[in-house]
Amino acid sequence: MKIILLGSGTSQGVPIIGCNCKTCTSKNPKDKRLRASVFVETEDAKILIDTSIDFRQQMLRAGITDIDAVLFTHHHVDHIFGMDDLRQINQRLNKYIDIYGNNTTIEEIKITFRYIFDEELIRYKSVPLVNLNTIDNTRFYIKETKIIPIEVFHGRIKILGFRISNFAYLTDCSLIPESEYEKFENLDVLIVNALRRKPHPTHFNLQQAIEVAKLFKPKATYFTHLTHDINYEEINPSLPENINLGYDGLIIELKQ
Ligand SMILES: [Zn+2]
Ligand SMILES: [Zn+2]
Ligand SMILES: [Zn+2]
Repeated sequence: MKIILLGSGTSQGVPIIGCNCKTCTSKNPKDKRLRASVFVETEDAKILIDTSIDFRQQMLRAGITDIDAVLFTHHHVDHIFGMDDLRQINQRLNKYIDIYGNNTTIEEIKITFRYIFDEELIRYKSVPLVNLNTIDNTRFYIKETKIIPIEVFHGRIKILGFRISNFAYLTDCSLIPESEYEKFENLDVLIVNALRRKPHPTHFNLQQAIEVAKLFKPKATYFTHLTHDINYEEINPSLPENINLGYDGLIIELKQ
């Protein structure tokens, strides 16, 4: 099983347009962050989590040419706005793509992407061709790959993280209900959001993300959805053992 961190940035990305701070002007490639997304290739399935605003660039950069399914964490624009570019996969491989999200996410996608349900445009294949699947907090399968949704809070809204084998991905989370703790047992790798150093009402900050890692003790933890407050050279060496900042292009190989 192969995991590619396609984007490790918060909603604005890093650098931020017009910002001259140390991180935004950094020469370190690990300080250049597209919007949050991850690609997971299992033995039988190619799974994308979220179609970020930077989806097209992320596919090109990582050399990804095929996707079987998209899992959506939630409907915020940084996580869905790249969806139009699924068209290229539909057209080239002549297939529909299954997309999965909770009820709110699927309903919001229907509103935001109203045009993709236009029958004439579908006939001409000039819109992304997708099968919508509304999921709740129960496990399901993509081919033979088991997907375990993890229901967490993003401020007041309920969103989904996902566990696939011994890997879990959690972004835009501000609270994990205790009822979901068992889904974090025996993880090899956890990717979890750590927005910035100061607290934030709807995202874990750095300290809270460290506490999550210490609570569940995955073998390795990587932080994502990072703002320009998180400078790689400054922050990464200060993190506890087995915890690191994620960065765009990070590849993790795991036994499934
Ligand atoms: Zn976000
Ligand atoms: Zn900046
Ligand atoms: Zn969000």
